[in-house]
Amino acid sequence: MQSYAHGGDGPPLLGLTVSGVLDEAAARWPDKDALIVVDQQIRWTWNELRDRARALAAGLLSTGLHPGDRIGMLAPNRAEWLLAQFGSAYAGLILVNVNPAYRAPELEYALNKVGCRALITETQFKSSDYIAMMQTLAPELAASTSGDLYAHGLPELRVVIQLGKKAVPGMFSLDDVMRQADVESLQRLDEIAAQSDFDAPINIQFTSGTTGAPKAATLTHHNMINNALMSAAILDFSCKDRLCIPVPMYHCFGMVLGTLLCATTGAAIVFPGAAFEAEATLQAIEAESCTALHGVPTMFIAVLDEPEFEKYDLSSLRTGIMAGAPCPTELMQRVIEDMHMSEITIGYGMTETGPLSTQTSPRDSVERRVGTVGRALPHTEIKIVDEEGHIVAPDVAGELCVRGYNVMLGYWGDPERTAEDIDTSRWIRTGDVATMDENGYLRIVGRSKDMLIRGGENVYPREIENFLYTNPKINQVEVIGVPDPRFGEEIAACIQLQEGEQATEEEIRNYCRGKLAHFKIPRYVRFVDEFPMTVTGKVQKFILRERLTKELEQAFRTSQLKRAAT
Ligand code: AMP
Repeated sequence: MQSYAHGGDGPPLLGLTVSGVLDEAAARWPDKDALIVVDQQIRWTWNELRDRARALAAGLLSTGLHPGDRIGMLAPNRAEWLLAQFGSAYAGLILVNVNPAYRAPELEYALNKVGCRALITETQFKSSDYIAMMQTLAPELAASTSGDLYAHGLPELRVVIQLGKKAVPGMFSLDDVMRQADVESLQRLDEIAAQSDFDAPINIQFTSGTTGAPKAATLTHHNMINNALMSAAILDFSCKDRLCIPVPMYHCFGMVLGTLLCATTGAAIVFPGAAFEAEATLQAIEAESCTALHGVPTMFIAVLDEPEFEKYDLSSLRTGIMAGAPCPTELMQRVIEDMHMSEITIGYGMTETGPLSTQTSPRDSVERRVGTVGRALPHTEIKIVDEEGHIVAPDVAGELCVRGYNVMLGYWGDPERTAEDIDTSRWIRTGDVATMDENGYLRIVGRSKDMLIRGGENVYPREIENFLYTNPKINQVEVIGVPDPRFGEEIAACIQLQEGEQATEEEIRNYCRGKLAHFKIPRYVRFVDEFPMTVTGKVQKFILRERLTKELEQAFRTSQLKRAAT
């Protein structure tokens, strides 16, 4: 026996494009709910969603865009996200997901890395003023004609579209773009559809890497649609289901396992709000009688810990996916018992695999459903290998590799980094350490990649270290993750200052503000005189992690004792 498994047959793979999936949904379920956005008070049927997406597509072509151009989407979960997702597909454009928490330097990198010719942007959200960010990156905007930008810092960007009815100088408003659709441009969409290839790239998402600079994972129609379809089959999804989606749309979890999964089955999409909030999620489930809920573990923890949790009627819930980070057994048990989610499943995957590779089934034993990440999805192969690349025996830990229809094309413009991760037989290395039992059930036991997951967001220490090295006071910095009950992991920066320099924790955090997305800013900063090293001169991050974890546990116990004494 070896740690190799094939997921076997499921539904046949679909040879459709993303726009083809929406056409089919509109034909099969024209008047059924497609999208409900609670805080925007929006309710569209599949027909309405299709018509609006086509109007946007036609409008996008009239701004001078051509099939194959990249178009960025910078917004939290709004109805317009679906218009961008399907509208770009009808126009033959490649959608580029931009994390709405990005700060200006991160946005600039993303747009230039894949040569975005257009960007759709929200006006502002939480602490982000996206218009100001764009005006800083492209000061030429204010004096330029909409659709004809030439900016030194964003050389390939021509078209900027602001969500809503109005736009600042140099940008189009989304409403205006949609109004530009005419009979001729709508006909052009049919020609584009006739020429579309389901193996062509349709979406780009950024995942960082151990080298620090984010990589642009490029996915095809085939990757995403079939991943949604296989997962839907495991969840027994149908047009009777209503899926609550608090996970972000800029990630595959939202746009593949959320919206595309619903589009392939006719289930309704329910957005409780622009970004995750526990109370809004509970309200949406009750008000919209949701049958399913997706989330990363920290979201389920926050929902269960919501003070008014008992008040809500969650009896409509049945299933959903918990994924994105280790899913603790006790949490799964609470979700099954307290949230009525008797058919909840655990999924494991990564952006580069569209995203899911394995999933538990509601028909698995409870032990397997709470203690493993399931088996390979249909039409997918998995294997676990040792350092020489040889497949290991069952129950032996090694690096997990995946092969199948779900493996991305590669990293945009980065053949070398693609070749580092995908071998000539099309196996992709996941950087996750796993074991497989004799029945093909997988357990994720660690990571070989230097990555931590804070509240579902992947954080690559190298990226933060590289940024902190731009601070002249810092001689050496090592970023690590420490356990955290709320976020799973928290970020800590251990810093050795240059001789004679002084700094405070707050000063270091302030240095990051405005330049790094909030979730990458170290919660803990510790100054050290020297680092623990191996004999070969490598920093032993695990020792730093152990020390800080002990210190934090000690501080927690002391604060509890103090609280008990008062
Ligand atoms: P992303 O590319 O953002 O989807 O992140 C992928 C990474 O998240 C994987 O390589 C894993 O390290 C981690 N991950 C995803 N799902 C799980 C899971 N169910 N259990 C443990 N880790 C997970």
